[in-house]
Amino acid sequence: MNDYKLNFEDTATAFSDKSNLDLQKKHRLFRLINSPLLTNFGTRLTAAAFRLHLPVKKIIKRTIFAHFCGGETIEECQPTIDQLGKARIGTILDYSVEGKSEEAVFESTKNEIHRTITRAKEDDCVPFAVFKVTGLADFALLEKVSANKELLKQEATDWENAKKRVEEICAYAHSIEQPVFIDAEESWMQDAVDNLAFDMMEKYNREKPIIYNTIQLYRKDRLEFLKKSFERAEEGGYFLGVKLVRGAYMEKERERAEEMDYLSPIHADKAATDRDFNAALEFCIKNVERIAFVAGTHNERSVQLLARLMNEHKVEPNNPNVCYSQLYGMGDNLSYILAKNNFNVSKYVPYGPVQDTIPYLIRRAQENTSVQGQMSRELDLLNKELRRRSI
Ligand SMILES: Cc1cc2nc3c(=O)[nH]c(=O)nc-3n(C[C@H](O)[C@H](O)[C@H](O)COP(=O)(O)OP(=O)(O)OC[C@H]3O[C@@H](n4cnc5c(N)ncnc54)[C@H](O)[C@@H]3O)c2cc1C
Repeated sequence: MNDYKLNFEDTATAFSDKSNLDLQKKHRLFRLINSPLLTNFGTRLTAAAFRLHLPVKKIIKRTIFAHFCGGETIEECQPTIDQLGKARIGTILDYSVEGKSEEAVFESTKNEIHRTITRAKEDDCVPFAVFKVTGLADFALLEKVSANKELLKQEATDWENAKKRVEEICAYAHSIEQPVFIDAEESWMQDAVDNLAFDMMEKYNREKPIIYNTIQLYRKDRLEFLKKSFERAEEGGYFLGVKLVRGAYMEKERERAEEMDYLSPIHADKAATDRDFNAALEFCIKNVERIAFVAGTHNERSVQLLARLMNEHKVEPNNPNVCYSQLYGMGDNLSYILAKNNFNVSKYVPYGPVQDTIPYLIRRAQENTSVQGQMSRELDLLNKELRRRSI
């Protein structure tokens, strides 16, 4: 292994487009999120306040929403797209409405995804589009399909409609050559999502990678799944597109496995997740001619490893088959420094009505509290930059 190294301590670059006031606001917010007690209390209070129609929207919109989301509409995200674009960081418009169960909402979500695909095509600053199948189909239905259970008549109709929505989105993305990611879900829904993703890749990834499935390496079986997916793509004569992530639903996965008395699909410890994630990066780099992939991570060691692997395998930083991605509001030191060094990097910028983004915001707050090290890392970097600016 060579000694290629990026300097992620360079906070002057990482926060170059943040004013002193921005930094102070971020610092206050991260300190609040850093307290598990406050986060738990705050998330419960927020959910209850929305249920009771209390006027909390303004406060949420100005604080945690402003930090982790781009706005309520695509238009409101424009300043964020511009700001990131100036630093050569792409925006991925992530319409964050999930957990609904009405057909009319699924249809309107599909239409919104169409708009994000059109928007991405029009603008080099928006390199990818993304959607969640749980925004287009009912949770319970996806669970039933994944378990291979027989569907009732109405469920069969709903499933046909959901597949049609996914097909329409992917056909449209293919027709205008706009790459699009399919997000990964909880394991009990994922088989349905994977099968849809395989169908879509087989159909639309023949000339170039358009459809990207997501692989969660916190699952014990997913490194093998990545290798099998590649074999399948090779046999089928299409490009494999994958977004590699560690996985966002660890606690939920473990709780369900315990409640229902089955073996948890999640690795027993973080080291095992890290090992598989890094092995997946290496596998993809070795097959970079036929796999287009995105490393969706805030883990500095993984990002450093991938940059080093690219250097070692003589893969140019701007090779279109390798991209890095972080969530908006997190890991700016990685995004800005990767961009400065000519790597392809983008940020997921969630948007949607404030109330509908609450499940996403709660995940971010809880993840930042529970993710080992990430929170204190963000705070350390903010402290370092505040000191550098003598604030
Ligand atoms: C661009 C982007 C897109 C994403 N898309 C998705 C998606 O489609 N689906 C999805 O599920 N998530 C998605 N995520 C979230 C992602 O899965 C992680 O939750 C998040 O990025 C934290 O992991 P990390 O690699 O950034 O950081 P790290 O801090 O290195 O890792 C934290 C992660 O490690 C794992 N972990 C932590 N403790 C343990 C333990 N004790 N045992 C086993 N594993 C452990 C968990 O997955 C945890 O989230 C996305 C993230 C990004 C940046």
